[in-house]
Amino acid sequence: MGNLKIGIPQALLYYEYFPLWKNFLESLGAEVIISGPTTKEILDLGVKSAISEICFPVKVFYGHVMSLKDRVDYLFIPRMVCVEKGAYFCPKFLGLPDMVKSSLSSLPPLIEPTIDIRKSATSFKNSFLAVGKLISNNSKKIYQSFYEAQKSFHLYLQSKENELNPEIININQQYSTKLLQNNMKNPLNIALLGHSYLVYDAFINLNLISKLKKTKINVLTAEMVRKQDIERKLKRLHKPIFWTLSKKIVGSAFYFLEKRIDGIIHLTSFECGEDSMIGELIRQESLKYPTVAYTEFVFDEHTGEAGIDTRTEAFLDMIIRRKRYESNHT
Ligand code: SF4
Repeated sequence: MGNLKIGIPQALLYYEYFPLWKNFLESLGAEVIISGPTTKEILDLGVKSAISEICFPVKVFYGHVMSLKDRVDYLFIPRMVCVEKGAYFCPKFLGLPDMVKSSLSSLPPLIEPTIDIRKSATSFKNSFLAVGKLISNNSKKIYQSFYEAQKSFHLYLQSKENELNPEIININQQYSTKLLQNNMKNPLNIALLGHSYLVYDAFINLNLISKLKKTKINVLTAEMVRKQDIERKLKRLHKPIFWTLSKKIVGSAFYFLEKRIDGIIHLTSFECGEDSMIGELIRQESLKYPTVAYTEFVFDEHTGEAGIDTRTEAFLDMIIRRKRYESNHT
């Protein structure tokens, strides 16, 4: 056993959990192969394989699976249900392994642990241990690998640094709270909020982060906000949000609104029910903070770069004009 090639599509929850998955699988001797950044070819593969009604990020995920499937012994596609009390993942994540198997052909076997802490307190651990048995028959080593991967993942989340994962280190350099505090002192701070697979996939969002950075804008993201701050901001809602990923987006939007940063761009995907609902929540809240500009960019496979560039320029222009006006009238 050992040296199994396990493929992880670089899409969807890759942007949330890759450090944990990679660390666990590699410490057991597996070779982790990722599909790499999204490209036009990957997108075309996904669009061809998926039904048109499905959300854009899932189409992109299908493309990553197709580009990876012939290079690996297994595909790692967990069924993510629940990782915290009272909140869940979007139904697409609950059915992701089944959707992939029924829509795509000639796939290698899937490793599809169900992550659902409602079943029992130990279910998270047990799912990983079951995966470990596919790679190694050394139970002690599997336990050890799980605890070490979990510990370093927590450290990663806390410190927002990840030396173990050079593939995403560039996007994560901005995750430090210290950096956030420094950013707040600079003149133009724009938060890019949305599901991590939209915010950090440069192909999907048409390079928005680097374009903003080129114009010397401080790009702020939800990952810069501490979990306890997010939870505190969410308390003001009359009804709790029961989607794990959306909680982070809404809580951080409220946080940035209160900090009165210059603007918030909410990145959403076409055909996403969660996005349309939380978009409205954020928009309503933003009305209480007239100095914080707010806009929403919707992405799908037809979104054109020129359209996004024009909207970004207009949004930034509006902020700069307002700032000039304020400085001339105070
Ligand atoms: S949350 Fe929205 S974008 Fe994400 S997988 Fe679900 S439907 Fe698609």
